[in-house]
Amino acid sequence: MRMNFGLTFRAANGCWKVNLSQRCSRGRIGLFVPPSPPVDAEKLQELQRFVTLSKRVLVMTGAGISTESGIPDYRSEKVGLYARTDRRPIQHRDFVRSAAVRQRYWARNFVGWPQFSSHQPNPAHWALSNWEKRGKLYWLVTQNVDALHTKAGSRRLTELHGCMHRVLCLDCGEQTPRGVLQARFAALNPTWSAEAHGLAPDGDVFLTEEQVRSFQVPSCARCGGRLKPDVVFFGDAVNRDTVDFVHRRVKEADSLLVVGSSLQVYSGYRFILTAQEKKLPIAILNIGPTRSDHLACLKLDSRCGELLPLIDPH
Ligand SMILES: [Zn+2]
Repeated sequence: MRMNFGLTFRAANGCWKVNLSQRCSRGRIGLFVPPSPPVDAEKLQELQRFVTLSKRVLVMTGAGISTESGIPDYRSEKVGLYARTDRRPIQHRDFVRSAAVRQRYWARNFVGWPQFSSHQPNPAHWALSNWEKRGKLYWLVTQNVDALHTKAGSRRLTELHGCMHRVLCLDCGEQTPRGVLQARFAALNPTWSAEAHGLAPDGDVFLTEEQVRSFQVPSCARCGGRLKPDVVFFGDAVNRDTVDFVHRRVKEADSLLVVGSSLQVYSGYRFILTAQEKKLPIAILNIGPTRSDHLACLKLDSRCGELLPLIDPH
């Protein structure tokens, strides 16, 4: 299937007339992207206008931007993890209180890590990184913990829910790279092996109880304390300083663009409310309805990686 539409854009080389021709290959990107209508040329122009008129865009991204990199989200209809399995994310309280819960979590995470950590940014991540280089992006806030924005080179970035690529000691607060912990896992479990049976957005996989019981979990090398990925689990709160920082960034911005989030989680939704109070124009790019569609001046249902590279951040 091929679609063509001609639009006038200023390309990087200074030419103005660009005939955009996109090959639409449903299914090539994979299992985790919900079906979406083809890019609507009129809405694309509206988004271009939205971006052009903004001098300080704040972009907030969610799981929907990473599905095109092969990472499933939790909530998408039919293809999200909630729809495909009966697995639910780990609860913060259970992790902190129970050594058995931590053992199960880390065993699964150990198996899933090589695949989870190898995911690469897709054209949507690269586009936003380019917006930053071109001075268009005021700040980027992500709800994702996959480090794909960092891998794409974004620096004006707040990871609202932390990052799976760091490990935090719950007892002394030391942060260490996740890769270092992987080597410690391997050294402690030389004969342990398990097959991954499906990857969750947080790098979790599915294992049997026997596999879990024999897995050895190291403790903090500095204090012997409990290790946790440096991410906000369900049931935990986002750090207050981080929330205040993002609120300030939203107030300083002149528009807000949501990319790939249904905004169901309050930790992200509250910034939409701040933007609304400030009367900032809000645009939403997400396949499927969101909690804030009624607050947006523009809503697009296209794939992030298909649409964002078409926008010129001039
Ligand atoms: Zn420690």
